[in-house]
Amino acid sequence: MKAVIKYFRDIIVGGWSLVLGYTVTLSEFFKPIITVQYPRVKLEMDPAYRGHIELVKLPGEDGHFCLACGTCERACPSNVIKIQGVKPKAGAGKVGIMYLIDFSRCSLCGLCVDVCPVDALRHSMEYDLAFTSRWDNVIDLVARFNEPQAQERG
Ligand code: SF4
Ligand code: SF4
Repeated sequence: MKAVIKYFRDIIVGGWSLVLGYTVTLSEFFKPIITVQYPRVKLEMDPAYRGHIELVKLPGEDGHFCLACGTCERACPSNVIKIQGVKPKAGAGKVGIMYLIDFSRCSLCGLCVDVCPVDALRHSMEYDLAFTSRWDNVIDLVARFNEPQAQERG
């Protein structure tokens, strides 16, 4: 008799467990989707997101603002910035032609962005930058700025 009672009790408990499980699954169908089909779909980052630093584009022009003054280089606590600039012609101001940064040692503290006197730097919205070698982490922001994809990145 005990075996029969246990048999029916297991069926009821198992069935109830199944119903509860399906209730949870069904309720998820009606909740907003919070995942994206990465990499086919890219995430829209919050304006407060702080990606790696990058050069800001001059409005309506192809160039950037960097004067190669070196203020950001001196302010960087991780010492990961190296800049070179040239004067395009006699009497003209300097223009940054090379802006090396080692992303692997950048702490994203934002000091370089804060100290720039002409607001030539900003944090990017890029969140999936990846490298296969530590040496690939050393990036020339000017060369990157001049890539065709830079215009798409905004
Ligand atoms: S990014 Fe700004 S602070 Fe850094 S060298 Fe260029 S102008 Fe100077
Ligand atoms: S974010 Fe901070 S650590 Fe990174 S390059 Fe700028 S100053 Fe240096």
